[in-house]
Amino acid sequence: MRSLGLEEVYARIDANLDEYLEGLFEMLSQPSISTLGIGIKEMSSLLQRRMEEIGFRTQVIQSAGHPFIFGEISSNARNRPTVLIYGHYDVQPVEPLDAWVSEPFKPTIREGRIYARGAGDNKGQLYAQLMGIKALKDFRGGELPVNVKCIFEGEEENGSPNLEGFVKTHKDLLKADLVYTSDGPVHESGRPMLVFGVRGLLYVELTARGAKRDLHSGNWGGPVPNPAWDLVKLLEGMRDRNGRVAIKGFYDDVKRPTRSDKAAFARIPLNRASVAASLGLKPSQLPAGQRFYEKLMAEPTLNICGIYGGYTGKGSKTVIPASASVKMDMRLVPDQDPEDIYRKLVRHVRLHSPGVLITKMSSSLPSRTSLDSPFAAPIASAVKDATKMEPVIYPSLGATLPDSAFTRELGVPSIIVPYANIDEGNHGPNENLKVENFLRGIRTAAAVLESLSRVTPS
Ligand SMILES: [Zn+2]
Repeated sequence: MRSLGLEEVYARIDANLDEYLEGLFEMLSQPSISTLGIGIKEMSSLLQRRMEEIGFRTQVIQSAGHPFIFGEISSNARNRPTVLIYGHYDVQPVEPLDAWVSEPFKPTIREGRIYARGAGDNKGQLYAQLMGIKALKDFRGGELPVNVKCIFEGEEENGSPNLEGFVKTHKDLLKADLVYTSDGPVHESGRPMLVFGVRGLLYVELTARGAKRDLHSGNWGGPVPNPAWDLVKLLEGMRDRNGRVAIKGFYDDVKRPTRSDKAAFARIPLNRASVAASLGLKPSQLPAGQRFYEKLMAEPTLNICGIYGGYTGKGSKTVIPASASVKMDMRLVPDQDPEDIYRKLVRHVRLHSPGVLITKMSSSLPSRTSLDSPFAAPIASAVKDATKMEPVIYPSLGATLPDSAFTRELGVPSIIVPYANIDEGNHGPNENLKVENFLRGIRTAAAVLESLSRVTPS
């Protein structure tokens, strides 16, 4: 691979560490807990000021919830791609407070790690993007080689309830050739990774009902129906004996993995023995080789999250439950649509257990960017240039993020390159970002923009 010629930029970035840390600490000292509405206004103005200092033309755009912050820097070079960078400035609550070694909004460095709420998720990574942009811009005499737009939201930790609507109503503002995000941790091997998609989600609760109250299982057992058995029977019928989902049409829209997908599954490092040991399972309980990732990334699931009803406390209590419920999630893959899967589930339940109530709790579309996107190789080589490590190509997370807001609504590829350490402890106490990951993130952001300037937008 040809070098990007950025060694001088990387050296300058390393030399500027103290300045970057000072800026990041200011962001981390400002609470911005979305679910409690704490510090959002202060945080969004601080972020806007920092963006303007770098040269962004900014707007704070109100939504039904917390505001979106938009910024834009256009390149003077012609015919260069526009990169839309997504991130979030809100954080999770800090409880349990007494489990923190240092206070969550008083950032401190211990043993090479920056400790604070938001250090990894997502302020440290968001700030690395901004500083990477600044470093590249300064190096190039105030010019960027590509057009850059940023959209930062304040409700990601609330499940991004307004993101899709915002994207729908601001398509012109957000018009771009690709979306680039850094959130989450690097691969567990320590290598960086490029993530090309997420699975979707459908979450439901099913309830079978019997008598109007719990009954004595001796006085009533026999003549009276038990809804727990009805529910178990319904669940049993939802999968065949190989574990395939037996809901009619469930797999109709599942896209088969491409040749590139399969090659990627096979190349992702997997130490089955150590994964199994870390989970307290036998290696034989996990699929081997590329099947592991194929199941995780390219196949949907029908999962029982929990079953309850009747008596589940200590000791014994002899009852026939009045009702029994199950909470289930389905992780969906392209091109499954949670609305369509919900209809198919309802049809299945009506047919086999007409009395069972169904409640839809949440849903999210799957999203996938092709591994053969023209932006994939330049980003991969930029990541390698900046980190001196071969990135892991990750066709999809098993988990769910609102990525479809970009890939479906804007119709553009979306690639996620996480910068945080695997043990960032986000959402928990002692959240942290390794200083070296922060620096690598800044270098990577600069390298990605430089590398993308060599792609001609279509
Ligand atoms: Zn988070």
